[in-house]
Amino acid sequence: VKFVYDFTEGNKDLKDLLGGKGANLAEMTNLGLPVPPGFTITTEACKTYLDSGEEPAALRDEVSAHLDALEARMGKKLGQADDPLLVSVRSGAKFSMPGMMDTVLNIGLSDKSVQGLAKQAGDDRFAWDSYRRLIQMFGKTVLGVDGELFEDALEAAKAAKKVTVDTELEAADLKKLVTKFKKIVKTEAGRDFPQDPREQMDLAIKAVFDSWNGDRAKLYRRQERIPHDLGTAVNVCSMVFGNLGPDSGTGVAFTRDPASGHQGVYGDYLQNAQGEDVVAGIRNTVPLADLEQIDKKSYDQLMQIMETLENHYRDLCDIEFTIERGVLWMLQTRVGKRTAGAAFRIATQLVDQGLIDEAEALTRVNGAQLAQLMFPRFDEDAKVSQVGRGIAASPGAAVGKAVFDSYTAVKWSRSGEKVILIRRETNPDDLDGMIAAEGILTSRGGKTSHAAVVARGMGKTCVCGAEELEVDTKRRRMTVPGGHVVEEGDVVSIDGSSGKVYLGEVPVVPSPVVEYFEGRMHPGADDADELVEAVHRMMAFADRKRRLRVRANADNAEDALRARRFGAQGIGLCRTEHMFLGDRRELVERLILADTDAEREESLKQLLPLQKQDFVQLFESMDGLPVTIRLLDPPLHEFLPDITELSVRVALAESRQEPHENELRLLQAVHRLHEQNPMLGLRGVRLGLVIPGLFTMQVRAIAEAAAERKAAKGDPRAEIMIPLVGTVQELEIVREEADTVIAEVEAASGAQLKLSIGTMIELPRAALTAGQIAEAAQFFSFGTNDLTQTVWGFSRDDVEASFFTAYLEKGIFGVSPFETIDKDGVGSLVKLAAKAGRETRPDLKLGVCGEHGGDPESVHFFHEVGLDYVSCSPFRIPVARLEAGRAAV
Ligand code: ADP
Ligand code: MG
Ligand code: MG
Repeated sequence: VKFVYDFTEGNKDLKDLLGGKGANLAEMTNLGLPVPPGFTITTEACKTYLDSGEEPAALRDEVSAHLDALEARMGKKLGQADDPLLVSVRSGAKFSMPGMMDTVLNIGLSDKSVQGLAKQAGDDRFAWDSYRRLIQMFGKTVLGVDGELFEDALEAAKAAKKVTVDTELEAADLKKLVTKFKKIVKTEAGRDFPQDPREQMDLAIKAVFDSWNGDRAKLYRRQERIPHDLGTAVNVCSMVFGNLGPDSGTGVAFTRDPASGHQGVYGDYLQNAQGEDVVAGIRNTVPLADLEQIDKKSYDQLMQIMETLENHYRDLCDIEFTIERGVLWMLQTRVGKRTAGAAFRIATQLVDQGLIDEAEALTRVNGAQLAQLMFPRFDEDAKVSQVGRGIAASPGAAVGKAVFDSYTAVKWSRSGEKVILIRRETNPDDLDGMIAAEGILTSRGGKTSHAAVVARGMGKTCVCGAEELEVDTKRRRMTVPGGHVVEEGDVVSIDGSSGKVYLGEVPVVPSPVVEYFEGRMHPGADDADELVEAVHRMMAFADRKRRLRVRANADNAEDALRARRFGAQGIGLCRTEHMFLGDRRELVERLILADTDAEREESLKQLLPLQKQDFVQLFESMDGLPVTIRLLDPPLHEFLPDITELSVRVALAESRQEPHENELRLLQAVHRLHEQNPMLGLRGVRLGLVIPGLFTMQVRAIAEAAAERKAAKGDPRAEIMIPLVGTVQELEIVREEADTVIAEVEAASGAQLKLSIGTMIELPRAALTAGQIAEAAQFFSFGTNDLTQTVWGFSRDDVEASFFTAYLEKGIFGVSPFETIDKDGVGSLVKLAAKAGRETRPDLKLGVCGEHGGDPESVHFFHEVGLDYVSCSPFRIPVARLEAGRAAV
């Protein structure tokens, strides 16, 4: 194998082998752009080194050969005393990863060659500045010395000289600093700073390899599901110097605005500076446009190069460059990060420029970005006072009164107050408070902290790890930078999309993208901005491309109408249990408690017209589109009074010797129906089989509603769904009864109703016997919430708040299996059941109605396994449409 590639040998498609940085350096080199010569050590070399614990001999030889070639080309040797070749050693994995080693610049400088560099450049200051930078970076990243020690020493040198910026330090000062730095290395690392240039280079290369297995890098990979065996590449690049005086400098640039997507000149430039100085903020940078005045020739050349890169990559690129005494050098490029809004705009702009087609445009955006654009946002024109910033853990804009404990959060929210729960960090005891709050703010913890995970699961706004905020829960207050104290009851605003924290109430405005989906803003109209226009067009691209249909989970006409506006092609899940609450609860109670058939039939008779009316409205709002109605699913006791409350009532009545026969009877019933594990108890089809007449009443209501709509010249398309089936026998019994009822209604109304009957697949047994079940089912709808619970043996209500954060932190999964479908486990069952079902019944309709139906990654999976549709909450529909389109590209 070949372990080392010259920049002239690689290209941008070799990211696996050369890492992102190396592949793009090679690409630029081959485009004829001015890249300082160098070579890339492959990820394969890294893997071999990590596996065996030492550098393979072949690698050493290859590096030597490439170094020789580089030296020959540059006409000087690495670290040569009178005129040293210097290089940078830069890490560069396929994905950029926090926790990996940074770059070391100026390798090759030593006590001797620093003199040679000074002479060659005719600039002492420059040489000593470069040397102190080398010792600093090398000490920190290769030898593991605490970087602050160097920074403190640098600060001290500036203070001693009474200057504020590093450029004001002169050669003599820097020389002294070098001595100081070397001492720090000796004390802290227990060895001298290596004077041999090749040793410097080899140690730096090894350090990059080793950093692949650093703790932080490993954790990051586990969470992001990046394989551990990719390894990192190492780039060795001859140095160019931006710190050679005012006609030198270094900068970063974007080929277009990463916030708006507009074309133009975007970036920052810093004269007389090296490497990270621009982003480190040590001196004030100037806008890139100013470079035109500073160095017109380099500026024009850079503009030209940016155009070349954009046309070549057909996307926004970001760039690092350096100017050495008026000569421009390109040091890095990659397809640049951008905001969610810019992603949509740029994709459509590139289509208009003819650089990409519609299908490719779809690969340039994603559902998470669209979801982000749909959250309400704080009014950017409002006067705000920002007091902190944490991690944007769960998007949204939340305003409320500060509370510092869960109890108060619940109490205040019950009395109608909006509250923000502020904690140092949250734990399972805070759950009630988190549910009650508008948003959650913590001063500790990252994206996988308890607060972040639970908030995301609930779709609640959350900012976590806002470390500048001092939260004192005992005294119910929080101190913000500057000393201002936020007391319990003071209003705060938090932005879960940016992580910003504000004092007072920041006004919230609905997102223009939602206004568009709601039909209150029209693309092409004056009030529509470019973003809406771009989203509109991308949705059209997705709709043209996708095979999956998208339906909504909606229980009433209002949700159904919104879902239609958002583009739903039917209802995939109408839960009938919500129709049994409110005023009707009493009827249901009587049904459950009925002692005689007559009593039971009476309650059913009363429920029938109410149910029917629900369905008539639903069919009307979804006229012409399929509506899947799930028969009653939850455990019965959910419709009965709380057991503790009722016990107290009975006990009170008893002690007061008041009549309480009804309460007693109710209590007995509640006891009788009480279950230890209601999730695995009397629910779903089991209810239908145990309570005579319940399911047939629901079927009759559906059939009569459909008949009524038909009579009114409507086009109802009802599908009856039986929940929690584990075996085909259950389904057969229900079907037989249902068919009889439907035939009766058809005979009475004279209408052909064409109702179809199917089942949910949400138990492992159902999935495993799907071939048999399909004999009695016209469609399957995968209930992936319950299926996830039953396949993993997790009770969702319990585990998310208790141990999921520990699991996420340990990297057991990167994301909750309730958020994104677990392809290997739950997904395998879906695949298996879909296949077996279709073998029995080739025209079996397949859909999914769990939360996963609106999750981007899961949508791709459902596309791949050949489902016909996904169903999700109305708000997620645009995301599902977009992702279904992307899945089909
Ligand atoms: P990162 O991945 O953190 O951006 P880089 O390897 O790009 O690390 O290097 C850090 C900084 O050093 C960047 O500003 C880069 O442009 C600069 N740099 C890297 N190699 C050289 C070089 N050979 N000559 C001059 N500057 C360099
Ligand atoms: Mg860089
Ligand atoms: Mg279920």
